[in-house]
Amino acid sequence: MSIQDKSFAIIGAMDIEIEEYLRHLENPKRTDRSGFSFYEGILSGKRVIVVKSGVGKVFAAMITQHLIDCYNPGYLIFTGVAGALNPKYNIGDVVVARQCLQHDMDVTAMGFARGAIPFTEYRVFKADEKLKNLALSAVIDHTIHLGNILTGDQFVNTSNLSEYNYLTEELEGDAVEMEGAAAGQVCTVNNIPFLIVRTISDKANEEAAADFENLLPEIANNSFRIVSHILKNYPENTH
Ligand code: SAH
Repeated sequence: MSIQDKSFAIIGAMDIEIEEYLRHLENPKRTDRSGFSFYEGILSGKRVIVVKSGVGKVFAAMITQHLIDCYNPGYLIFTGVAGALNPKYNIGDVVVARQCLQHDMDVTAMGFARGAIPFTEYRVFKADEKLKNLALSAVIDHTIHLGNILTGDQFVNTSNLSEYNYLTEELEGDAVEMEGAAAGQVCTVNNIPFLIVRTISDKANEEAAADFENLLPEIANNSFRIVSHILKNYPENTH
């Protein structure tokens, strides 16, 4: 396969996180496999496959491997919303991952660093430089931050920092969500360049659940503009 044939896989956890992508998809073709709908088409001049994974690390990992096996994408972008841990981040801002890690992978009792996957070299998964730099060069109405994304199977909604201080202090997290590092791990193992681009939906505090519910329709698509900027400006012409 030549470099020209490489497509971009785009995953979101919820319908609302992929609907803008589907709305703009040219020549869409839907294929249903294992209960998931995969949409192939052209977006901003590039071949893409868009799919909703569902919430959490298991679905994210499952869909990522499935996409790689069935579609052999050149790149993978996980998009959607996230809670802010960094106090400088505002709702509606976008965070582009420098790297990601599973904050709930905890074998510290056996002496492993928090997030380390025992008996492997895996802990922090680095985003692809080229995708990351392109994302940061986008211009939108909101601030775009470069940050560390933490992933775990919890909706973090407490302002009780003593319970969660490892997220910001030990792990230096800027935003928290429930899928990114699972996809990042699968991409890393398969040698697929990846990026996570998330809009801040809440501040992972006591108001998080209400903010998440109320603001989601309004801000879920801020990250779409960044992803389409990446697609438009990625050097390879894929069709
Ligand atoms: N109410 C939703 C569940 C959403 S779970 C439903 O019914 O389907 C939260 C989703 O948004 C996850 O996909 C996660 O990646 C992201 N997210 C946003 N804010 C978050 C936070 N504070 N903690 C963890 N994940 C968050």
